[in-house]
Amino acid sequence: MRPIATLLALASLAPGSLTAQRPDSLAEEVREFVSVDTAVVALTGVVLLDGTGGAPRSGQTILIRDGRIAEVGAAGAVRVPTGTRTMDLHGHTVIPGLVGMHDHMFYTAAGGRAVQMSYTGPRLYLGSGVTTIRTTGGRAPYAEINTKDRIDRGLAPGPRIHLTAPYLTGGQGGGSMAVVNSPEEARRFVAYWGSEGATWLKAYTDIRRAELGAAIQEAHKRGMKVTGHLCSVSFREAVELGIDNLEHGMLTASDFDSTKQPDVCPIAGVGEMGQADPGGETAKEVIATLVKRRVPMTSTLAVYEPFVANRPTKDARMLQAMAPELRRSYLQLRHEIDSAGTGPVPEQALLNAMAFEKAFVEAGGVLASGVDPTGIGGALAGYGDQRNYELFIEAGFTPAQAIKIMTANGARILGVDRRLGTVERGKLADLVVLKGDLTAAAAVIRQPVVVFKDGVGYDSAKLIASVQGRVGID
Ligand SMILES: [Zn+2]
Repeated sequence: MRPIATLLALASLAPGSLTAQRPDSLAEEVREFVSVDTAVVALTGVVLLDGTGGAPRSGQTILIRDGRIAEVGAAGAVRVPTGTRTMDLHGHTVIPGLVGMHDHMFYTAAGGRAVQMSYTGPRLYLGSGVTTIRTTGGRAPYAEINTKDRIDRGLAPGPRIHLTAPYLTGGQGGGSMAVVNSPEEARRFVAYWGSEGATWLKAYTDIRRAELGAAIQEAHKRGMKVTGHLCSVSFREAVELGIDNLEHGMLTASDFDSTKQPDVCPIAGVGEMGQADPGGETAKEVIATLVKRRVPMTSTLAVYEPFVANRPTKDARMLQAMAPELRRSYLQLRHEIDSAGTGPVPEQALLNAMAFEKAFVEAGGVLASGVDPTGIGGALAGYGDQRNYELFIEAGFTPAQAIKIMTANGARILGVDRRLGTVERGKLADLVVLKGDLTAAAAVIRQPVVVFKDGVGYDSAKLIASVQGRVGID
């Protein structure tokens, strides 16, 4: 038995674990959720959205062998060896495992509730079809390091995890975040968390250009990447500094505030930012800058929607998963927002954010997505990732485009696209089997039956059942 420290060091060299996880290496606590554990399995008769953005194909067969996709193609074109376990999945859709690019391991909700979700988070993510996450800002970093380690060692069910260091901000008073007010402090912070296994950094609203630039330089020196939920630094300034990714899109782009002073976060809130024209000059310039410098953007529409009045924000599955006291306070707040007729985020701001993301993709930008399980608490781990799909369809993306955003694009940003993110021969068998035809109804995204990670099939319903009434507690 190696000491934990060695295992953690190894884990840090291999983000997301490089070797496929086999059923016989899983602890009983994980095996109880496994519904498909044969080394070779054929999924037949499915509608396939393979993550490449190509047109959906029906009547497809996918052959999984030893944790990888061995063959994909039309029935008849794929030879299924005799004796292979075959699952007849007519009436089902298969997509790649979702790659959640803003999928925190903590949860916050109205009234100041903030909890680490080491128990509910991994189960909700995996059960909802999310097989890879980037934590995109840690609140209890050692809880997150240890959760990743337990999942990688087969001791707990959950997605593969790309660790992000604690949030890095500037100014005064950072709550649970690190505050840096000199480039030297920023570099020291990055060096430390890099050595602890973080592969990403998340810069937050009050960080200034000098500290962000120093953090980016230090991160790149160590092979780490930096994303940001920014404000004091605009999107265009961050691109100049070499940032690798930008979170949330239009509603956090202070480029849209014409009164903005350098290194100062304007008072204007999300609502005001969202009043800008998503097709206007500033939008065009921001998009052109990101596209030219190949900086991807992460969409988190699902966390904004619960701030908007009279939107579908009371998913029965979500309410059942919530702890009773949380459910009461959430419904009370939602009632107040709906009866006021307008919430902290005007509906037009949400629609503008959607239009901005559509324009970004049309201009050649790489868009990914994640849930961001924060805000007023209406975007739960996994469920909010699914909701993003429905919002992408509302924004005008095709099902194939939306699935690519939620899978292959995330894998590309994480640098793991050669191993996962699409349903293609040789890739790790991370697949979601959905009940129904996703191309006919967006809500089919809410119907995972089996979620394959490394070719091991997990029973979605069992994972979800194990967290009922616990969201908001642990
Ligand atoms: Zn976040």
